[in-house]
Amino acid sequence: MVLSIALSLFAGSTLAWLFSAMAPRKALFDLFFDTIWAGNSRIPSVAITFDDGPSPIYTPRISTILRSCGVRGTFFLTGKNVDRYPQIAAALHEEGHMIGNHSYSHAILPLLPDAEIEREIVLADEAIERATGCRPYLVRPPYGYRSPRVLRKLQNMGKRVVFWTTMSWDWANPSAGAIVSRTLANVKNGSIILFHDGEGKYLETHSTLVDVVGRYIFGAKDRDQTIKALPFIIIHLLNEGYRLVTVGDLVAQFGGQERYLCL
Ligand SMILES: [Zn+2]
Repeated sequence: MVLSIALSLFAGSTLAWLFSAMAPRKALFDLFFDTIWAGNSRIPSVAITFDDGPSPIYTPRISTILRSCGVRGTFFLTGKNVDRYPQIAAALHEEGHMIGNHSYSHAILPLLPDAEIEREIVLADEAIERATGCRPYLVRPPYGYRSPRVLRKLQNMGKRVVFWTTMSWDWANPSAGAIVSRTLANVKNGSIILFHDGEGKYLETHSTLVDVVGRYIFGAKDRDQTIKALPFIIIHLLNEGYRLVTVGDLVAQFGGQERYLCL
């Protein structure tokens, strides 16, 4: 089992997923699935999204910024972090932000058998529902890693899978100025911007050997720069005439779809 996972990590298809996660581009198989890549290109709306929370350090600060700017975001939460900080997830929902599922343990879904994929999604759904009273409809696979089998499974579970158009690159810990310029350089009508308000796999709030080594290899997940950059990005977008909406609002703009707050 360990050997097969190690081998598959070096397989070409996995490398393709790695690159697709950094700058997701539609593969041929994506055409066969009803996933969300962007909003309507004729409507000046943009969705700002946050992955990996809730975090007790960063999520409340981001929520305060969004409230003071009068905008709503979409938060893809991991079930594990929701179980740790249910009150922060509940507060996001009460503030009117949209909540999506980012798996329970930030799993690499294409490496899991179908039953485990289902478990990751259902456990996160249940954690979010316990905390907020609301069962998420949207799923963003961790790292954007996907395969036809994963997308089919999520679709069969009634989920809508969301990717992004615009990286803020905040996961690589650049300066706040770099986050602002990289983000604004790639925004247009219907853009979905990816930020992070929490840690992925290697939690700063954990100090197991795996966490310490993971942070050493992949860098500390300090979101202070994201928080510094966020007001500049939001104010600039509003001044440019964009409306900042949730991913559910973007989906609704295609017409005929109900508005999804969390469901
Ligand atoms: Zn993530």
